[in-house]
Amino acid sequence: MTRKGVTVLGSTGSIGRSTLDVIARHPDRFYVAALTARHQWQLLLEQAVIHRPQVVVLVDGQHAQDLERGLRQQGLATEVLTGDGALTTAATIAAADCVMAAIVGAAGLAPTLAAARSGRRVLLANKEALVMSGPLLLDAVRHSGAELLPIDSEHNAIFQCMPPGRSGVAPRGVRRVWLTASGGPFLRRDVAEFDAITPQEAVAHPRWSMGRKISVDSATLMNKGLELIEAQLLFGMTPGTVEVVVHPQSIVHSLVEYTDGSTLAQLGNPDMRTPIAHALGWPDRIESGVQSLDMLTLGSLHFEAPDRAKFRCLALAEEAGRAGGTAPTILNAANEVAVEAFLERRLNFAGIPMVIDEVLQRVPSTDLSGLEGVLAADAVARQVARQVVAGRGETI
Ligand code: NAD
Ligand code: MG
Repeated sequence: MTRKGVTVLGSTGSIGRSTLDVIARHPDRFYVAALTARHQWQLLLEQAVIHRPQVVVLVDGQHAQDLERGLRQQGLATEVLTGDGALTTAATIAAADCVMAAIVGAAGLAPTLAAARSGRRVLLANKEALVMSGPLLLDAVRHSGAELLPIDSEHNAIFQCMPPGRSGVAPRGVRRVWLTASGGPFLRRDVAEFDAITPQEAVAHPRWSMGRKISVDSATLMNKGLELIEAQLLFGMTPGTVEVVVHPQSIVHSLVEYTDGSTLAQLGNPDMRTPIAHALGWPDRIESGVQSLDMLTLGSLHFEAPDRAKFRCLALAEEAGRAGGTAPTILNAANEVAVEAFLERRLNFAGIPMVIDEVLQRVPSTDLSGLEGVLAADAVARQVARQVVAGRGETI
């Protein structure tokens, strides 16, 4: 078997670490081509010593010399690159057949787009890159003949339940997609108490262990809103044909409903190594290290409708998804700014949807006109969001 080279963008994060865990189980199938991190140089060094990549990228170059020294002490010739542009180098080096896009937020767009343009297999965890750029990423995939495989557990589940087809084109016979949501840590919390929620509580997800930003998104249900737009784009679904259903156990990862009344679901323990192994090995099935479900002890599974009045972020994302154009770009940018402000205790939890709503009202959405248009809308939305956050003058 010829081994495949994998670049992991965001290797020090939750998805990045799970990806390296799966890769390490299959030295006969995969080797690591490049690893990237923003500033966790010591963890990046540890990963490089184990996985021996050609290149490592430390975006924040402050500790580049420490990293370089550590690599040489271990007898490694790994090249160290710094700066944002280096991410694109890592995403397109010749040794990479496959790129795991696991940077959080808009910072992942450029390297993910570069990987798609260069015809690699792209494993997409970085949903913000897709949501903000709309059809641009899918167009790049189509033009270059790249493969785009979803890592988000729901979209990976949908991919597994869909008939084969191209990214962005709805397969015939599919009536609806059911996107499951855990509901996050505040599913049963009274909305009157939302103001007092601390970052510490918000990042403690009951089912999944994830990075801080996506954990807050899960607590506001913005994560599900972004995923709804992601599903529309990835599977060519029209806005009304993606339905969100709350399923607190996070065992059913999503469902696809067909015109004949069949509904197919993908089930598994909530561990991201399953979708990662699925996409790395596809079309083969490979070991992930995740325990199988025991149907004899699983008990009953619960489903309920989401409360859009309580979790306004979901409704805002649904509106932006329906509006199309740059509305999802604006929504995503405003959310990134609001979540960062919440994590830095400059904004209340209840303020997050209010900021996003105000930004969506103040920044007019336009048709999507190439990457420049996307980046311009992103920049304006961030600027307005920062003003709105500052104007609220909250502290927690
Ligand atoms: P994380 O915060 O744990 O890790 C983020 C990674 O991105 C780190 O390696 C960090 O160094 C890097 N990074 C952050 N900012 C950067 C910047 N400005 N430039 C370059 N690199 C930067 O996040 P995560 O939970 O692993 O999530 C990564 C992506 O995967 C997100 O888009 C998230 O929505 C998506 N995702 C995560 C999960 C999960 O279970 N964690 C599930 C589904 C989707
Ligand atoms: Mg998900």
